[in-house]
Amino acid sequence: MKYKCLVLFSGGLDSMLAVKILQENGIDVVPLCFESFFFSSKQAKKSAQELGVKLRVEDISIEHLKVIKKPKYGRGKSFNPCIDCHLMMIKEAGKIMKKEGFDFIATGEVLGQRPMSQNANALKIIDKWSGLDGLIVRPLSAKLLPPTILGSGKYSISGKSREMQLKLAKKFKIKNYPSPAGGCILTDINYGKNIKRLMDIYPSFGENDILILRAGRIFWEKDLLIVVARNEKECKELQTLKKKQDVFLEPDNFPGPTVIVRRYKKSPREEMIDCGVKYILRYSKNAGENPRIKI
Ligand code: SF4
Repeated sequence: MKYKCLVLFSGGLDSMLAVKILQENGIDVVPLCFESFFFSSKQAKKSAQELGVKLRVEDISIEHLKVIKKPKYGRGKSFNPCIDCHLMMIKEAGKIMKKEGFDFIATGEVLGQRPMSQNANALKIIDKWSGLDGLIVRPLSAKLLPPTILGSGKYSISGKSREMQLKLAKKFKIKNYPSPAGGCILTDINYGKNIKRLMDIYPSFGENDILILRAGRIFWEKDLLIVVARNEKECKELQTLKKKQDVFLEPDNFPGPTVIVRRYKKSPREEMIDCGVKYILRYSKNAGENPRIKI
C-alpha cells in the first residue's frame, strides 16, 4: 500500500529535505504551509517550486492569534509561543489528515535544533496532546525518536549543526534554499515588546492592531500608540490601516512622514493631535518656519 502524507512545509531546508526523504521512500507527499498574520507563505511557495511539488496553503490567522494570547507552554526569547503554536499547527494538519484520508503527518523538525520547541520533551508534548502519537513522522531525526507508523527511520540528525542537511541537499540536488533565519515576526525582539505592550493595554486587539505595529516606527505614550511611516510604502499602508477614531496626520507644505496616533483608552483627542504633531515634526527634516499639517 502506498502511504499518503501531509508535510508541514515552511519552505526552509529542513522541510524541503523531509519532502525528499519521504518521496525517496515511495510516499505520496503533499506539502502544507500555514500562513497567519505573523508569517506568510512566500518562502514556502518558492521552495515548493524548487522541488517541483504543488503546495497547499491554509490560513490559520484566527487560531494562531488565540494561541498567541494565551499560550499554555510559555514563550521563547520574544513573544513567540512556539510549543503551543507547533501543537496547534499539528492539530490543524491532523484535522485535514483525518478528513481527507492522509495516513500521517510529517515535519522537518530536528531534535535539539531549537531549545524551546524541538527538544525531546516538547516533541513528546506535541505527540501526546495532538492525539496523533505515532502518526507524526520527523524523517530527519527519525532514528533518534520512538518508532512511528513508518517504523524506525534512517536519519539521526540532531542539534544546530547544518552539516548533514547540507550533505543531503547535495544528494537530493536541492540548489536553492533559504538561510535558516526564521520568517515569523513574533521572534523579533522589538515587535515582541510592542505586541506585549499592546496586550497589556488592550487584550482584545485584532488584525488591524497587529498589522499597524509593523507599518512604521513605533512609539508609546501612556495609552497612545504612535506609528511614524519610514517610507512611501509605509505611508500608503497607514492610509489603508487608519481607523475612524485614529488621528491621521500628513505634512501639507513640507516633506515628512505620515503619522497615526491611536488611543487604547481615554486620552483626549487634543492630546492625540499634539502628540502626532510632535512626531511628524521630529521626523521631518525641512519643516520650515510655518509648517502646515493635514489632520
Ligand atoms: S516561530 Fe512563530 S510560527 Fe514558528 S513556531 Fe514559533 S510562533 Fe509559531
